[in-house]
Amino acid sequence: MAEAEIGVIGGSGFYSFLDDVTEITVETPYGSPSDSLFLGEIAGRRVAFLPRHGRGHHLPPHRINYRANLWALRSLGVRQVLAPCAVGGLRPEYGPGTLLVPDQLVDRTKARPQTYFDGEPLPDGTIPNVVHLTFADPYCPTGRQTALKAARGRDWEPVDGGTLVVVEGPRFSTRAESRWHAAQGWSVVGMTGHPEAVLARELSLCYASLALVTDLDAGTDTGDGVSHEEVFRVFAENVGRLREVLFDAVAALPANADRSCLCTEVHTGWDLGIDLP
Ligand SMILES: [Zn+2]
Repeated sequence: MAEAEIGVIGGSGFYSFLDDVTEITVETPYGSPSDSLFLGEIAGRRVAFLPRHGRGHHLPPHRINYRANLWALRSLGVRQVLAPCAVGGLRPEYGPGTLLVPDQLVDRTKARPQTYFDGEPLPDGTIPNVVHLTFADPYCPTGRQTALKAARGRDWEPVDGGTLVVVEGPRFSTRAESRWHAAQGWSVVGMTGHPEAVLARELSLCYASLALVTDLDAGTDTGDGVSHEEVFRVFAENVGRLREVLFDAVAALPANADRSCLCTEVHTGWDLGIDLP
C-alpha cells in the first residue's frame, strides 16, 4: 500500500500542517528533498507534507531541490499535490489576505533545473530520454476546482484564475519590474511556483497552487515596497484558515485511481527512458 496519496508542499510560514505525524526521510536520484516528509491522515486520506524551504526556512527559493521534492512525493505514492505559496499582488484589488488559485504561469526564473528528461544518466545508470510535454494548462483542473470550492466553503471567496509570474529571487521586485509584470496583465508574483508545477506535470502528478497574497508588490504599492517581515506577518495571520481550506480540499480530492484529468495522460506517446517511482 502506498504510504501517501496526496502531497501538500507548504510555503513560507507553513511548516506544520498535520498534528499527528510520522516523520520519514526519503532519498531520490536527484538528492535530498528540502526536509523530512511528514505523513499523516486527513478524513481517511493519507497525506505527505513537505516544508518547501525546510523547517527553519533555511533554503531560499533558488536553492530548493524541486526535482527531489516532487520525486520523493511520487515515490511515496502521491499522485495529487496541493501547493500553498506566498505571493505579492500585482493589482490593487488583490490586497493582503487574498487567496488566488492561478490557472496560468509565467516563468521568469533563471537558473533552476526544470526537467527530469534531460538525457543525463541517473545514479542507477538509466538515462531519461529528452521529452517535451504539453504545459499549455499548467495546473490540474480538478485540483483547482477542489481548492476553490474548499475556500468558498470556509467563506473565503477566492480569485478563480489568474497568472502567477515566478521570479528568481531571493530579492523582491524593483518598482519597474513590478509595474512591468502588472502591465502584462499578470495577477500575482512569487518565487517558488516554478519549476514545481512543471516537474509535477512531468511526473504525471496533479498539481494546484493556492497563492496567498501577503503584500502588494513594489510597483503597486505607494509605500516602501515589500518587506520580509510583512510577508511573514500576513502569512501567519492567514495560516489558520489556509490550513482549514487545505484540509477540506484534501478530503474532497478524488481517489488517485479515479483521476480523469489531463495530468494522467501527459506521457502518452512518449518513451521516458526511465521508470518513474
Ligand atoms: Zn490532474
